[in-house]
Formats: sequence, C-alpha cells, structure tokens
Amino acid sequence: MAGWSGSRTTCALTCRIEVGMQVVAETDIRASFRACSAGERKRMRLPNLSEVEWENLDFLSWIDRSDPKTGYIVAMLADEREVGLVLRMVKATKSVARQSMCNWCRTIHPMGGVALFSTLRWNEQGKLGGTIGDYICADLACSAYVRRLKRSDQVQLPTMKSIEERIRDLNDHVELFINRVISEK
Ligand SMILES: [Zn+2]
Repeated sequence: MAGWSGSRTTCALTCRIEVGMQVVAETDIRASFRACSAGERKRMRLPNLSEVEWENLDFLSWIDRSDPKTGYIVAMLADEREVGLVLRMVKATKSVARQSMCNWCRTIHPMGGVALFSTLRWNEQGKLGGTIGDYICADLACSAYVRRLKRSDQVQLPTMKSIEERIRDLNDHVELFINRVISEK
C-alpha cells in the first residue's frame, strides 16, 4: 500500500485519504472518551459497529438515538492516539441564517443543517475547565459529504478542490479542533 513506507505517524493521514479510517474496536472506542467517567463510558450507546464503513470515514461519528442533542466523534490523531469527544448541540442555526457552512467540511446546508456543538476541554491529566465549540454538520456526517456519498440540499460554492484535498482539509480541521480541546493554553 502506498504511504506505508514511512513511519506510522507520517502515514496516518495519507492512509486515511486512500483507505479511510482504521477499524477501532469497541473497547478502544469507549476508552477514547477520556473526559468521561467509567460509568459514562460503559453506558454510552455506540452505533452498530458491524455496519460502519470505516473505509469512508475520517472519524467515527454518531448522534445519540435517544438524545438527538448529543453527538460523539472518535478520531485518530496523526500520532495514532484515538480521541473521543462528546459533543453537545448548543443550537442549530435555524433562526440565524437560511443557509450555513460547516467549519469542518465546508458543506453548505439549508436551515438547521449546521449546528453549534460544544465539548468540554480536557487532557490526559483531567478536565481543564471551559468548553470549545464549532459550527459543524448537524448530522456529523462530514466524512460522507467530502466524499460526495451524501449531499446537502443546498447549492454548494464552486470549488476546484479534489475529494482528496477536501478529505485532507477535513482532517486538518478535526485535528485542529481536538488540539484546541486538549491543549493547556
Ligand atoms: Zn461538515
């Protein structure tokens, strides 16, 4: 496979662009939510992992079936650490604008298709206090939008970017967001 000649770290993004995300086991998914208590990790309802198309994902994401205002993402950083974040929907952009753009995948959505999600700041030592938020696709399906496996009902801005470039940009945005969450500063 191209891209595997270097170290695993330098390969991480290249491989994701080519073949998507590495499969993550259920125990590792639960363990990646390090800001949650052991009980919260255990109770967390995961998607049906046998149906997940890892090859089409930059990060695993799902919305809680019984609590649509709570979403989860599990991403792998360039250093191969899996990081799980609980995202709380603060508000959908309904009243603000007719259409809005996801800051991660740059997809333009009609009213309500983008939401402000926030997550607690933390690092390996524990919670840091405060939250970090961003406007992202309300269904957290950015990986599918950049691959054109899912389409928004809204007309998109013309772009010269290839799918590979959009995947790269998405990965950069997700990693930047996670670094803001787990950074001391
Ligand atoms: Zn998006």
